Amino acid sequence: MRAWYARGMPPIEAQIAALLSPLTTLRHEIHRHPELGFEEHETQRRVMEYLRDLGFDPKPCATTGVIADLNPGRSGRSLALRADMDCLPMQEDTDLPYRSIHDGRAHKCGHDGHTVSLLGAASILAGMRERVDGNVRLIFQPAEEGVNGGGARVMVEEAALEGVDEIYAFHNWPGFPHGSARVCAGPVMASVHDLVIELRGVGGHASQPQVTRDPVVAGAALVTALQSVVSRNISATDAAVLSVCTFHAGEANNVIPARARLTGTLRTFDTSVAANVVDRIRAVCSGIAESYGVEILPEIQALYPVLVNHADCAEAVRQAAEAILGPTAVSPAGLPLAAAEDFGRFTERVPGAYFFLGAGENSDTPGCHHPDFDFDDRLIPTAIRLFVRLVEDRVGLRP
Ligand SMILES: [Zn+2]
Ligand SMILES: [Zn+2]
Repeated sequence: MRAWYARGMPPIEAQIAALLSPLTTLRHEIHRHPELGFEEHETQRRVMEYLRDLGFDPKPCATTGVIADLNPGRSGRSLALRADMDCLPMQEDTDLPYRSIHDGRAHKCGHDGHTVSLLGAASILAGMRERVDGNVRLIFQPAEEGVNGGGARVMVEEAALEGVDEIYAFHNWPGFPHGSARVCAGPVMASVHDLVIELRGVGGHASQPQVTRDPVVAGAALVTALQSVVSRNISATDAAVLSVCTFHAGEANNVIPARARLTGTLRTFDTSVAANVVDRIRAVCSGIAESYGVEILPEIQALYPVLVNHADCAEAVRQAAEAILGPTAVSPAGLPLAAAEDFGRFTERVPGAYFFLGAGENSDTPGCHHPDFDFDDRLIPTAIRLFVRLVEDRVGLRP
């Protein structure tokens, strides 16, 4: 069946219909064997085998990723389509027949579905290979969920975007209604900074605080002071979220500890806003350290940049999605999201757009990262049609 292109081709709709059963089976197999970031060896093997059967020459990239060109070296435009492949470090407690066989690993973001959707598009594109007036690069990315700074950065370093004119990807999203697509120009997902703040004081007996430098009291003051960073420094028209999420200190109820440790996250939709907030966090840490006589060492690491959609590319997605789903099914409502995605590493380098395919039946449909989440297999044909349509519209077909 994968060798249609050798035997003459039925229409695309018939091809997609015939692909659904094997792709769904493959999705369930990948779901059953989830792999964490930069450990996607089995998924990589499956993807490369599938692509080789279609006549591609897939290459490993970023250790466990894959890239493959439809028409390597062909003149014309070159468009990249990207899917992520990693799972989350979570337990799967569902009673799905294809539930994860690995403790502490589960496909709870739907990257199993993204992977097979792109393989489905690869099948259709392989049948159109001669007619595509340029190249299509398929990018299967490892480690989207943040392991070691994410896989996109490594793929870019390993030249995955060399020669690429535009790049596109999608995420399933149960928070948007099934049958809808969401896309917008400009910021579509947030930047992320990780915060780790060490407080070093002088510990001692709880009955003699005057001879200590208490990092717990300083840490409590710091958490409170950080609440003013966004509310008092960021304009009403900008947006930022700064959350302190852990506070660890001490072990005994009669010992003032010498150390405390806070961690948290910063999300913004603008690089200059992020820089401003980071400066203010450092200034507040210095001020509290001075006031409380402790040492405060903030480590603020830029994890993912803002994911910014290029206007032309977002418009291309809107038109393609309207053609497939109908004009009322496509909108920018609900965007941007304060979640983060390292697809922004690609759109920093080349124009591109990231879009969402709605997977929600109702407000109770479990969202991405929820223990009961599962990818909605009904999105596979929609995603394939959209990917292929983007190739037709942005690369073009020879007559
Ligand atoms: Zn996720
Ligand atoms: Zn995801």
